[in-house]
Amino acid sequence: MSGEDLLHNYEKLLERLYARVPRKISGTERFEVPRVSIIHQGSHTIIRNFREIALRLRRDPQILLRYLLKELAAAGNYDDESGIARINIRVSSKSLNTLIDRFVKTYVICPTCGRPDTRIVKRGRTWILVCEACGAEQPVKPI
Ligand SMILES: [Zn+2]
Repeated sequence: MSGEDLLHNYEKLLERLYARVPRKISGTERFEVPRVSIIHQGSHTIIRNFREIALRLRRDPQILLRYLLKELAAAGNYDDESGIARINIRVSSKSLNTLIDRFVKTYVICPTCGRPDTRIVKRGRTWILVCEACGAEQPVKPI
């Protein structure tokens, strides 16, 4: 086999490999979950970029905060004017990022196609994650 043939075969092989990679993977990889920027004030934790994170996830900051507070069993508040969230316990950025990852997995990423182009629709007491990319609907636990 000539070098050119080998290259040609290699390209064909690559093409076949790429065709087999599910869209799911490429969709999730493009989506980067934002990381918290925090400072500790005494026994409190301030998330400075809270609004940015919520915007990036296209979720209401109040919903995201409620989720975090519930998971941390803590109290806290969000100030819409400054875009900052305050949690009334000391928590590491690592723990917060882990919680945000979990939130994204459940309340942002479509379980069917793996894309983040979703919104939450409330039907009575039921929350449904509606995917704008593939149209799938997934009931999720209300926060
Ligand atoms: Zn989808």
